[in-house]
Amino acid sequence: MTTSPHLSERALQEAAESAALLPAAQAAHLRGCGLCQGRVTTYRQLFGAAAQLPSPAFSFDLTASVLAQLPRAQPASPWVLGGVAALVVGVVVVFLVLFGGVLAQAVQGLFTVLGAGLGLVAAVFAAGQGLELLAQHRRHLRLLTFS
Ligand SMILES: [Zn+2]
Repeated sequence: MTTSPHLSERALQEAAESAALLPAAQAAHLRGCGLCQGRVTTYRQLFGAAAQLPSPAFSFDLTASVLAQLPRAQPASPWVLGGVAALVVGVVVVFLVLFGGVLAQAVQGLFTVLGAGLGLVAAVFAAGQGLELLAQHRRHLRLLTFS
């Protein structure tokens, strides 16, 4: 007979799942103790019966009732967006009607300077893009010759 104490409920349940889960001392006790073996057998029967229970089913559609409780996202109505756009356009038109003449005179001189600046920027940008394309083409050709 063995002198070590009986297994705890937790150890009994682990043994019912798999005897390999027990530490060596508890496994040795279990081999020599009829009481603990009986308890492990009871847990095995309990686990087996629980595993065969059907999964709980609700008498109502749980998904639908949860979805019904969720706040619904309000889509932005197109006529509101259209109204905002019309308001912005209206403000711009009124501004141009009221101050268009003054603006035209003030900006007239700037257009030639701005045009020249824009042309220069566009030329530099196009040249940079061309150089980049050329470098990329050379890289591809180098890869082709090695493969
Ligand atoms: Zn025991």
